[in-house]
Amino acid sequence: MPVLAKLEQAGFEAYFVGGSVRDTLLRRPVADIDIATSAFPEEVKQVFTRTFDTGIEHGTVSVLEAGEIYEITTFRTEGTYADFRRPDEVVFIRSLEKDLERRDFTMNAIAMGLDGHFIDPFGGQQDMAQKQIRAVGVPFERFHEDALRMMRGVRFVSQLCFDLEKNTYDAILQNSELLENIAVERIAVEFVKLMRGEAVKVALPLLHELGILPFLPGLKGRNDALERLDKWDLATVKDETTIWFVVVLAVQPVNASIFLRAWKLPNKLIRDVTKAYALAEKTVWSDYELFVTGMDTVALIEKGRFVRTGITVWDALYARFADFCVQSRSDIKATGNDIMAWTGKKGGPWLKVLLAQLDQAIIEGDIANTPEEIKGWVKHVIS
Ligand code: ATP
Ligand code: MG
Repeated sequence: MPVLAKLEQAGFEAYFVGGSVRDTLLRRPVADIDIATSAFPEEVKQVFTRTFDTGIEHGTVSVLEAGEIYEITTFRTEGTYADFRRPDEVVFIRSLEKDLERRDFTMNAIAMGLDGHFIDPFGGQQDMAQKQIRAVGVPFERFHEDALRMMRGVRFVSQLCFDLEKNTYDAILQNSELLENIAVERIAVEFVKLMRGEAVKVALPLLHELGILPFLPGLKGRNDALERLDKWDLATVKDETTIWFVVVLAVQPVNASIFLRAWKLPNKLIRDVTKAYALAEKTVWSDYELFVTGMDTVALIEKGRFVRTGITVWDALYARFADFCVQSRSDIKATGNDIMAWTGKKGGPWLKVLLAQLDQAIIEGDIANTPEEIKGWVKHVIS
């Protein structure tokens, strides 16, 4: 509210818009607060002391106020859309109504002023009361302008347990192929939100029904994967790594890493999920195997098992981790350098083998984790 007040005091209009208004009206937790203003970006920057040019060419300036970051976007219209994904030009305007017109769904095209009154030119509140997701304007045209909106529509079905209004539904059915023009990273953001939604079991079949599935990397023709997901308990699947692990378990790719790379996911996530997938069916572990695999991966594997079967042995495995005298290699009281010094030998493949043997000897309790004992053990093994 102070952010809005400052803009108003400077003589501009300012409103809450988008998801924060929608979610407030639905009494749901708000994800992020988007603010729309009649001030042009340069004017916004004059009103606030701490600003960042996050997307200034689209009119978005981020503002740091009272320790929080708020995105402030100038009222704008979008010029023509040549390639189904982004406007050729963005035009800044001073009219709120024109700005609301370019938004995707009626429930996302409501503004709220500082005094709490709503500007809702497309009947968003009525659609929300009827649990309907309705495109603003002519749905066919709106999906031609930006095909990502179709994926967002199904994402909102999952998050809100709403239905797609008939004309909106039909327009997606007719235009789903346009999704091939959309950057996979943007599709992935919506897909993850869809997977997290309460009505994910309603939304997943829609991906098939509406012809969206072929435009999700590795999922073309893979209705079987959706059917598998439908049988699983996805209620606890919320963090991004678990979501992708569960998707991989459903898709059963020969090579998980290739599947995940097609989605352009971060390398660490790809490594973590691929590692868990390779060991997904493992239930019997030696102490040493647990140690080298690591607690995070074993936890992920067990989460995957729980989602699929309702059964997990995580508690027992966790207890074994907790009993280990060392939690990671860095806890072991000898480094590769120490071993080279003790033996007078230069590094090489032998050292890696020896370090692995050392880990095993310590984890299995054959020797104590003290430099003296390790030194004695190293000399004995080398000789
Ligand atoms: P969330 O709660 O996930 O943030 P959101 O609806 O706020 O949902 P944002 O991506 O934050 O989604 O977008 C903010 C607002 O910008 C939307 O509510 C909508 O009004 C508008 N918007 C976002 N993406 C599009 C799009 N592709 N086409 C038209 N309007 C969009
Ligand atoms: Mg938002």
